[in-house]
Amino acid sequence: KIKHIIYLTFDDGPNRYTTPKVLNILKRNQVKATFFELKPAKKDYDLTRRVVNEGHTLAMHGFQHKYDIIYRSVKIYKENLDKLQERLFKMVGVWCTVSRFPGGSSNMVSKYNPGVMTRITKRIHSWGYHYFDWNVASGDSDGIKTSDALYRNVVKQLSWEHDNVVLMHDYTHNDVMLGALERIIKYGKKKGYTFLPITASTEEVHHSVNN
Ligand code: ZN
Repeated sequence: KIKHIIYLTFDDGPNRYTTPKVLNILKRNQVKATFFELKPAKKDYDLTRRVVNEGHTLAMHGFQHKYDIIYRSVKIYKENLDKLQERLFKMVGVWCTVSRFPGGSSNMVSKYNPGVMTRITKRIHSWGYHYFDWNVASGDSDGIKTSDALYRNVVKQLSWEHDNVVLMHDYTHNDVMLGALERIIKYGKKKGYTFLPITASTEEVHHSVNN
């Protein structure tokens, strides 16, 4: 088993501003990562193709991201994944099984439907899906203002004691993340970490469920 792994993960893409820049940085540094995508717009299919062609893992975040809809029932959540799985297969010929819950499996935004996360997480593997949370939150969606602060926030959380799953966001104009990404990679390499894409056989990293 490879030790000291970093899985870079990018949620909420693709889009024409951030995705190509992330892909260029990854390519330049010869690092493979994981993209938890939403339903791509037709005009952005080429971005999803590029993710696949460049050796990254195409993974699922959901056909849509609206918390007040997707957690209304177990069935609706399953459909939100199934629809995206079919769409991505049609688009790029990849049958995705790796997923991430919008808000993570520990989310409280689904509280309007008590117990729904408990019910979904019990059943999701029987539907043929894997799910991954994260144990390093970059903070790019939590109001971190500078690339410097984001870089410091990520590297202080990295650990040799367990695999590191780093949460970042591939939404448009995420300049704070873009400005830190290459430095994070260079730091990780220097410290002896290996960067890998998540696959269906990667050991899942889960939060504890709160709903
Ligand atoms: Zn998201």
